[in-house]
Amino acid sequence: MIDTLLVLNAGSSSLKFQVFALSDLAMLAGGQVSRIGGEATFKASLASGEKEAGNLAPGTDHTAALAAVLEFVDRHDDGWRVAAVVHRIVHGGTQYVDPVFVTPEVMDDLAALSPLAPLHQPHNLAAITASEALVGDVPDIACFDTAFHANREDLFTTFAISGDLRAKGVRRYGFHGISYQWIARVLAEEHPRLAAGRVVAAHLGNGASLCAIERGRSVDTTMGMTALDGLPMGTRCGAIDAGAVIYMLRDLGMSTDEAEAELYNRSGLLGLSGLTNDVRELLASAEPSASLALDYYALKVAQHSAMMAASMGGIDALVFTAGIGEHATLVREAILARLGFLGAFETLVIPANEELMMAIDAKALLEASA
Ligand code: ADP
Repeated sequence: MIDTLLVLNAGSSSLKFQVFALSDLAMLAGGQVSRIGGEATFKASLASGEKEAGNLAPGTDHTAALAAVLEFVDRHDDGWRVAAVVHRIVHGGTQYVDPVFVTPEVMDDLAALSPLAPLHQPHNLAAITASEALVGDVPDIACFDTAFHANREDLFTTFAISGDLRAKGVRRYGFHGISYQWIARVLAEEHPRLAAGRVVAAHLGNGASLCAIERGRSVDTTMGMTALDGLPMGTRCGAIDAGAVIYMLRDLGMSTDEAEAELYNRSGLLGLSGLTNDVRELLASAEPSASLALDYYALKVAQHSAMMAASMGGIDALVFTAGIGEHATLVREAILARLGFLGAFETLVIPANEELMMAIDAKALLEASA
């Protein structure tokens, strides 16, 4: 019997999972359910190389998606026993700065943070509820995307607003922290000189942000109170004049829900190009709007990178990670072409591995509580 960690990353329409051996954190299997709520599909592969793919019942919800994952795990186990289910939680607020065992009280606290991450937090919590219902008497562990940024100076977490509003919790949190924690860890292990210096990490996936990492710690990051701020993303607008949002609500007569859907789902690369949020398709397109979207993206990543460098008083390395950062060479080159004025710095690509980072943290928590 092998004890395992089942690591889950639940999005609005997908449930990604990986299974790790608890003893040495070897990855045993991984995969994902896609298009939850629609024509759901399942795909998975084992460390042995064996793969499988198929369709799930139309309208599959998060609970049914997790049931499909568990059915796969049961079917393929060679005596695997799930020792803990580990969940990626987008928002831990100011309270949750380390991974924790989920209790009813933790669930209440995290549900109260849902308005700050309306597109992510409810799905993250749905996976915990599903896990509690399906997996049996096994601990659920929550890891937080906000945690890596939690100890920044007030100067970097505040907005220039009245004390009244600040007292109500309107402030910057920052996200993609598990990804940045992984980058800091890889730097410490493989590039100790850079780990001791000033690094701008660029997580460029469907969501996108930058983090100023100085001596292994987050100093500054481009996302703010919600995951809408900073860089333009696949379908999110990134930083936008708050006055524009007031105009949309008051003068264009949009409801709050309409404005939210506009800024989260119809903006970014999709909104600018009018074509797609997929960078591969934009790179292959001859449409001027595709070039505009990619040019704007590179400009904003470069501008915000310089901002992150300013927060640290310089830059020793720029690290790219996630789908676009790892694979879109032309986008990386367009960003770097705009940053020559910062002088010499190293450029690295480090593949994202949030799942392993979560497994490492969960194992440490289990050992600390044993
Ligand atoms: P998520 O945030 O959903 O995990 P990813 O990190 O997988 O997203 O990043 C998705 C983005 O990466 C998409 O815009 C996709 O087009 C882009 N991408 C993935 N592979 C490539 C590639 N080979 N070339 C260019 N872009 C790529």
